Amino acid sequence: MQFRDLKQQYQVLKKDIDEAMIKVATDCNFISGAQVAEFEKELAEYVGVKHCITCANGTDALSIAMMTWGIKEGDAVFVPDFTFFSSGEIVSHCGATPVFVDVNSDTYNIDCDSLETAVKKILEEGKLKPKAIVAVDLFGLPANLEKIRQIAQKYGLLVLEDGAQGFGGEINGRKACSFGDISTTSFFPAKPLGCYGDGGAVFTDNDEWAEVIKSICVHGKGTMKYDNIRIGLNSRLDTIQAAVLSVKLKAFKEYEVRDVNKVAIRYAELLGGIVKTPVVPENFYSSWAQYTIQLKDKETRDGLQAALKEEGIPSMVYYPKPMHLQRAFDETENFGISCAVTEKLCDTVLSLPMHPYLREEEIRQVAEAVKKYLSK
Ligand SMILES: *Cc1c(COP(=O)(O)O)cnc(C)c1O
Repeated sequence: MQFRDLKQQYQVLKKDIDEAMIKVATDCNFISGAQVAEFEKELAEYVGVKHCITCANGTDALSIAMMTWGIKEGDAVFVPDFTFFSSGEIVSHCGATPVFVDVNSDTYNIDCDSLETAVKKILEEGKLKPKAIVAVDLFGLPANLEKIRQIAQKYGLLVLEDGAQGFGGEINGRKACSFGDISTTSFFPAKPLGCYGDGGAVFTDNDEWAEVIKSICVHGKGTMKYDNIRIGLNSRLDTIQAAVLSVKLKAFKEYEVRDVNKVAIRYAELLGGIVKTPVVPENFYSSWAQYTIQLKDKETRDGLQAALKEEGIPSMVYYPKPMHLQRAFDETENFGISCAVTEKLCDTVLSLPMHPYLREEEIRQVAEAVKKYLSK
């Protein structure tokens, strides 16, 4: 059994993907080929935003947002403590200070009370200037962006939606990656929409920022590549990745998100009441980057993971360590903000095999193995 079955997906889409890749090789338009602009148009349309600018990966996409806003030393950026490293790394990278706040144990996303407490604390301390919130759509579920936007408005903060895992999710029918002042995603192969290498995208409705983002992606270009008006990056999506992604986006829209939601329903039916299954709040829709259950303690979690492995079932611990305890942030003060929920989650979560091509027999096999271990 595969944790995320990219081989199966390739077999289904092989004809179209092969054709798309061979066309790029034949045309030799490897950088900024027509497929890139086409794919950006498709993405913007799907997400429902005015501008989509692709780039080299999801981490760059976040950094580009920080650079566009001129976030710098002395600024505070609020980041959930339970996320992939990039969400906080990009803050330190531009010289600002990440302030880690706790998450909600049902949704795994930023806890709005913890967020507001942290903003107040930073204001009282008076050392740093609160500037932005990184709202991560963890495991495919959009963060509580309505509430986050209210807090942002109250304190004059910018919202960066990190939709690396959230692409395809929705709130009230509105697509993830459309909620931030700037939103980003990643096309790392294992993400909901993945390419055949690294890739990322930045989304915004703001015309002025869109121009800055386009410039940053190509060495801070002005009117052309050899006219450089700011310090930028070399961050572009390869034509071959755009070509692959266009094929995959079609399948994603037509059936993949629908099918992965069917898998989630089956897991919930078979595992509900036995373990804590993920909660999707009313009017929210997840694209299920991960299906993450919670066990009662670390011993049970680790035991279950070992038992699943014995039966050939892969599982992963996302994430084993809170951001504020990462060694890279040893020097970063966390202002006494408690992240107790995150600390508990890191000991108790386990992500099960999850993808649109998971078969009923496989879902049953996973559920049976979980039940068997827990009934011991
Ligand atoms: C994967 C991921 C990123 C980074 O994306 P890359 O394309 O790997 O650079 C950022 N944030 C979150 C939440 C992610 O899961």
